[in-house]
Amino acid sequence: MAERILVKASFIWDGVSKDLRHNGAILIEDTKIKTVGSYGEINPSDYNHVLDFSGLTLMPGLIDSHTHHSMDPTLENYLDRMSDSIPELTLRAAAMMRKDLQAGVTTCRTLGDKEYLDIACREAVNKNLILGPRSIVAGKGIRAANGHGFVGYPFDGKEEIRKAIHENLAAGADFIKIYISGTLKGDGDLPSYLTREEIATAIRTSHEAGLKVASHCVGGIGLDWALELGLDTLEHAYHISDAQIEKLAVSTTKLVLTPSPILNDKIVYHYPKHLIQGHFNERDEICGRMRALIGANIPFALGTDGMHGELAKEAEYVVELGASNFSALQALTVYGASVCGMENETGTLEAGKYADIIAVEGNPLEKIQALKKVKAVVKQGRLVHYPNSQSNIKELKYSF
Ligand SMILES: [Zn+2]
Repeated sequence: MAERILVKASFIWDGVSKDLRHNGAILIEDTKIKTVGSYGEINPSDYNHVLDFSGLTLMPGLIDSHTHHSMDPTLENYLDRMSDSIPELTLRAAAMMRKDLQAGVTTCRTLGDKEYLDIACREAVNKNLILGPRSIVAGKGIRAANGHGFVGYPFDGKEEIRKAIHENLAAGADFIKIYISGTLKGDGDLPSYLTREEIATAIRTSHEAGLKVASHCVGGIGLDWALELGLDTLEHAYHISDAQIEKLAVSTTKLVLTPSPILNDKIVYHYPKHLIQGHFNERDEICGRMRALIGANIPFALGTDGMHGELAKEAEYVVELGASNFSALQALTVYGASVCGMENETGTLEAGKYADIIAVEGNPLEKIQALKKVKAVVKQGRLVHYPNSQSNIKELKYSF
């Protein structure tokens, strides 16, 4: 018989329902979910292992929709540390990925790292060489020579951009990242560092190759262009105008919010000194813009932008900014999967999807802080984190 594991718990939130299921059970066959039902409905002869999470709530594994594998904002001046040596960045990335997984992140979307180390990390996880979330990765981010983007690489003009996309594709990138604007407004407008033609080239070349395009863009004329030209995902949107929210609502562009780089003091104090005050100055205005997006019922995914192990905090921030617990939870699961293009593989607890399951203490539909109490993580049918492990499930663990 194929390896079949029954996971039982006091409650299940499947990612879709508005309520919890009581005394639920999930039957896993190899890497996938075979059935989700009540404990009593599943025949004991159907499985050969049991994971008993009585007292806990099962929910889909979390999805960090905007991160960078090797970034660590807990380091002083952490943006400059993205210029550390590639071996150092790669080892840091492995440690960060483990931290994410232990916090319940089973999938992440990486918006650029140095020298394709994100691709190496993705493959190392897939080959079980290191422990981490599965990832989809952007390879080398594309920015203008005079533009923003600590993690990106400069490419100017349509030809260089086309070449950069082809090189990313050849290296194994899953999607393309471009930097249209900076992050702060300062005293003036928000210039677009890429021209309209460069953005059009990036989107057209990527789409012809079957890749989606994500853009760091907080507002300004570049955001108007990107929406008109069919950008796939808008990252941050910190200074989006009311008129642009209306355009976004009727566009095909998906939104990824990243509250932490603005709201988390631990991150802000670790920016280069000349950028710190600006973040504090614009904090209220940016919160107002995020409230406006949430109030307009624009669906959104959530990302930490590198604050590994703290995805739960993003959910707390958006709830404070007016989102319901349900939409914050969907941002971290169903909608995150859709932004990753993995809606048929993960994001909900449904038959046929990967068995990406976490057990949390409490009911996150009522108290979002339950996400901070991740007690066990199952990724693709394997128990990968269970600090209070019982000996009878030892055989299911990775042997590191
Ligand atoms: Zn980023």
